[in-house]
Amino acid sequence: MKTTRQSSMTGLVETGKAFSPFIPHSAYSLSYISSKTFTLRHSQADMKMYNFNSGPAVLPEEVLQQAAEAVINFNNLGLSILEIGHRTEWFIDVLEEAKALVKELMQLDDSYEVLYLQGGATTQFMQVPMNLLDANETAAYCDNGIWGSKAIKEAKLFGNVHVACSSKDQNHTYIPRELSVPTHSTYLHYTTNNTVEGTQWQFIPEANVPLVADMSSDIFSREFPYTRFSLIYAGAQKNAGAAGTTIVVIKKDMLGKVNRTIPSILDYRTHIEAKSLLNTPPVFAIYVSLLTLRWIKKEGGLSEMERRTQQRAGLFYNTLDSLDAFTGKVDTRDRSLMNATFTTQDPELEKMFLDICKQNGMVGVKGHRSVGGLRVSMYNALPLSSVQVLCDVMKDFNEKHG
Ligand code: PMP
Repeated sequence: MKTTRQSSMTGLVETGKAFSPFIPHSAYSLSYISSKTFTLRHSQADMKMYNFNSGPAVLPEEVLQQAAEAVINFNNLGLSILEIGHRTEWFIDVLEEAKALVKELMQLDDSYEVLYLQGGATTQFMQVPMNLLDANETAAYCDNGIWGSKAIKEAKLFGNVHVACSSKDQNHTYIPRELSVPTHSTYLHYTTNNTVEGTQWQFIPEANVPLVADMSSDIFSREFPYTRFSLIYAGAQKNAGAAGTTIVVIKKDMLGKVNRTIPSILDYRTHIEAKSLLNTPPVFAIYVSLLTLRWIKKEGGLSEMERRTQQRAGLFYNTLDSLDAFTGKVDTRDRSLMNATFTTQDPELEKMFLDICKQNGMVGVKGHRSVGGLRVSMYNALPLSSVQVLCDVMKDFNEKHG
């Protein structure tokens, strides 16, 4: 029987044939076109929030629109993406296209496998050493922020950890230039972008051992020699889609070298054999990731993402450096182009600035709870115009309080 989608949706108000969600400043209206097709339209006249969230974070408008359409009627099947089986050819096509796009954007050959897994990057903190590091072996880890420290803690459960460098002495506000990596290390792990602290490796650490990287917060933001890495992981919820799935890219020759027995669900090899369909995958999150990857490709790929990244971060940091009311928190050489951390002169002013941001429709400007201060995240989908609005508000604040 053909499914007919009717227009009653929780959270939508009927206004003739159009429907508006209850979201303040919402820029959407959902129109009923025929029994099988809905379109979601974006009206520029309505203001949407300026979204500086650190993740889950801003997504491209058209990705949201396509995802919303697929929730109602996926590929004109008369079924929602939420209703299709994960072993149907429809979803297998989604999964295979998403994996192929990851490979294409990263320019990886067939010596690599791409997996869409669950459990977030946090699960990778333990899954990586469980699969790669034998109990009597040593892995080198860079200790450059809260996420890297967590990865170290988990790795110690499986083997020996050698801390190759640490920025703990200065609250992780810089990236060390000196590394000590024992030649017998099974791999060197580092976090390419420290989401919380606001630092980013602008170079690839020198090591004659396989590189493993947590790229959760800067994946696909720049042209990058991804082939220098033996394993890359990233939660999708920043530059690669919605929360609920984690991209893992593995060089196959890294696998099968440890002696321990690995539970199937945590064994990369079983996921590779099952083509990311060992169990029910997060279908919708993977679909949103596919839409996001298609968007990246269509917009011009990683070179274009890098141009926009530089443009956004350039605008923000030039403004920051020109204003007395604000101070950057990290070494200028190591500033993250994705997550900028900064402070005001005192906590009262910070509170005042956050209130002003809120009044101006900006979200996500507060720093991570562990470090305080202010932070703005400027991922791929953040329009330059949002950064411009923020900069204007900062300039205005500086005139009054600088
Ligand atoms: N690594 C980095 C660099 C992150 O930014 C985050 C989350 N923001 C994590 C790991 C943890 O990711 P998840 O919440 O997906 O487990």
